[in-house]
Amino acid sequence: MNQDNESIEESESEGECIDSTPIPACSLREMGFQEGTEDFIQHLCSENEYKAHIIHQMNRLITHQQNTDVDVYVRGHKILCHLIVLKTCTEFAKDLHFPTGVIIAHKDVTYTGFKLAYEWMINENYKLQRKDIVELYLAAEYLKMPQLLDHLWSLFHEEKFVTDAIAFQIYLECLPHRKSKLQNLMLGRVQRFFLMAVATEEYLRLDHADVSEILDHSNMCVNSELEIYYSAVRWLHHDWPERKQHAPSIMAVVRFHLMTNQCISSIRAELQELHSIPAVQTLIDEALYAGNTQQKPTRREWVYNMRIPHHHNCACPQWRCLDLTTFDKYLELIIVTGPSYSKSLKYLTSGWTMPCCQSALLLRK
Ligand SMILES: [Zn+2]
Repeated sequence: MNQDNESIEESESEGECIDSTPIPACSLREMGFQEGTEDFIQHLCSENEYKAHIIHQMNRLITHQQNTDVDVYVRGHKILCHLIVLKTCTEFAKDLHFPTGVIIAHKDVTYTGFKLAYEWMINENYKLQRKDIVELYLAAEYLKMPQLLDHLWSLFHEEKFVTDAIAFQIYLECLPHRKSKLQNLMLGRVQRFFLMAVATEEYLRLDHADVSEILDHSNMCVNSELEIYYSAVRWLHHDWPERKQHAPSIMAVVRFHLMTNQCISSIRAELQELHSIPAVQTLIDEALYAGNTQQKPTRREWVYNMRIPHHHNCACPQWRCLDLTTFDKYLELIIVTGPSYSKSLKYLTSGWTMPCCQSALLLRK
């Protein structure tokens, strides 16, 4: 008001606008205007349908990979992507600043792996096939996708999905990438499939470190440590001239202390070429002569099948000694029976003996 008055005085003093009526200016509020906020907000909200339309259109662009803004190249293949999707779902893309193209040239990331990971990001109804799980896992690890990795780890723990046979398959698929955490989890799940695995060509082609890792795992299901020993021998014999150098390290994971002295003496007499190696001799001597002074190593997961002669007690008439020849025949039987053989192996509970063996033991007394 003061300003206005001054303006009027100034105007008068300059001799201009002398005839204007001096009505004081009022603000809207002073004139009684009040905000009708509720009506205004209701009016905006009534456009929800249009918002839904926008969201639908954006969703369509994303899921159909239309109007994409970044091309990702993996092993010569181009995948059309939206950067905002990559930034939302991966830590890998967090530091990318408006690139038009990204090349991923890491040995763990395949075209299929990346494509599947991106499909998981953009499709609500995503279906994963078993054969793709390792490639997807490797891509998710590289792209740093915590949500997808959590989802995959829960699948790896799912017994219905990852059976003993599939666990061995996934273990083999992990080997070239050295994913020890997943390898260990899968080895722990091989269990009753162990001897089926030993019968395979894939087992024979493993390197010595991987064979040691398998044979050293306490979850491998066998009827006695002898089955572990002959599994080690099977791998060594597959290329004896080349592999005999690894005999000491492979034999070091066989728990000879879990064998009876009678067993140890019997295997020592059988395979001279193996037991003449000084380091192997030492292992055997330690088990033979240390006796009860040594702490017993961890037991395996013991299993049995009543149809298998060497699974019976040596007092039982059905028992047959396990040597290299009978072990090979045993593997032949496993191969003929197929993957279902693992289901026929029963877990041996402590103190339980087959009825026939129990009778034989009673007679002996
Ligand atoms: Zn028996």
